[in-house]
Amino acid sequence: MNRVLILHYHEIWLKGGNRRFFLSRLMTAVKHALAGLPVQSLEHISDRLILSAQAQDALPEILERLGRVFGIAYIAVAEEVLPEMAALSRAACALMVGKNPPSFAVRAKIAVSNFGMNSMQVERELGRDVLQALRARSSGVRVNLDEPDATCSVEIIPGRGFVYVDRVPGPGGLPAATAGRLVTLLSGGFDSAVAAYKMMRRGAHSVFIHFHGSPRPARGSSASVAQEIVSALTPYQFTSRLYLIPFDSAQRQIVAAAPEKYRVLLYRRLMARMARQVAGAERALGLVTGDSVAQVASQTLHNLAALDHGLDLPVYRPLAGDDKEDILRLARRIGTYRISCEPFEDCCPRFMPRSPAICARPEELVRAEAGLELETLVTDGLEAASALDFKYERGQVSRQEAAPRKLEKLVARRKTAGAQAALRPELEAGPASRLSGGR
Ligand code: ATP
Ligand code: MG
Repeated sequence: MNRVLILHYHEIWLKGGNRRFFLSRLMTAVKHALAGLPVQSLEHISDRLILSAQAQDALPEILERLGRVFGIAYIAVAEEVLPEMAALSRAACALMVGKNPPSFAVRAKIAVSNFGMNSMQVERELGRDVLQALRARSSGVRVNLDEPDATCSVEIIPGRGFVYVDRVPGPGGLPAATAGRLVTLLSGGFDSAVAAYKMMRRGAHSVFIHFHGSPRPARGSSASVAQEIVSALTPYQFTSRLYLIPFDSAQRQIVAAAPEKYRVLLYRRLMARMARQVAGAERALGLVTGDSVAQVASQTLHNLAALDHGLDLPVYRPLAGDDKEDILRLARRIGTYRISCEPFEDCCPRFMPRSPAICARPEELVRAEAGLELETLVTDGLEAASALDFKYERGQVSRQEAAPRKLEKLVARRKTAGAQAALRPELEAGPASRLSGGR
């Protein structure tokens, strides 16, 4: 008997003309994820991927890596046999005797037209054999089709048969890089990392931005926490870029110029303004944040509506309806929980308001922003940005400094436009004053 992995994908995204596109992305993702491991063959046959390893002891690592390939619904660890009832029965009985469950069911999928039996007939016949084999050891065993303790699955494709009891859930979702790009505002906390994951799982490639202050020496730097999170998320999408933008000076200006109760909302609006520019440079189609409705004062429905006012780019909030418990559970599963637990500060506590606004209206925020040089703040933030590129290859994530040319060009354009705008009043003042002087 030969042990193989059968990778099943959800068929929902296979409808229509996009089938080939999604499947080729899935195949590429599987190959990329397994690079460096001893894979003997990977075949796409009858709506499943069948993978054989050169060495059985590589299977745990292969399974571990496949657990991060979006688009895989589940992976069956199967015994391959000849597609004949006698061989299938032998394998099914051996596997089920190994499990020895109190109740069981047999399920068959037949992807050949000339097998000679339909799936119900195969299930009934193999069920009878397995029951007999199990009863030889324990007389209380029964067949339970609704809630079996173990399910023996049989799959028949042209020339090959497979039998398995164990299946490992995959991450589901859609293959990486099938939906377009989004910019995630990543704080280092639990929520935004999980938010990024949820959108990545829908095929969106995430570009990350983190805004950082100067932490007190006793606390860790949020920028290194953000880097660790991006490192943990990169295996899901293979490459990532992280922009790090200093935010201290912008916060100071907001603290000096705006009413205290609006501070957090104004920080958030300024972050979104900068993120929008990065989205333009990165050809991203929207922003992602980790907001969860009413989790904290800045995330009431009123405040969220006010935050987005005037921002002409969609903001995705995939955790909007999630409880903190749901979010933490997912954070643990995807490997970011431990990183977000590290103590860090992304902003000086002195900059936080004592009593934040809970139901801000958009026009209140626009008024509160009136004393700020918003365009200059955005340009200065983008000019001070640094960037890192992350790459996942052969099971390892590496990172290196990036020089995002598009952002540099954007900053140069904004500075020229800013300088011209600053000159304009003088130019306009020149003739006008002469005119008035002539009067
Ligand atoms: P998180 O757990 O993601 O930090 P949170 O519930 O603590 O979220 P806030 O700190 O108010 O809530 O932040 C809400 C969202 O704003 C974050 O999920 C993130 O998308 C964005 N955000 C907040 N701070 C930063 C930051 N320093 N850099 C980038 N994005 C940020
Ligand atoms: Mg936070």
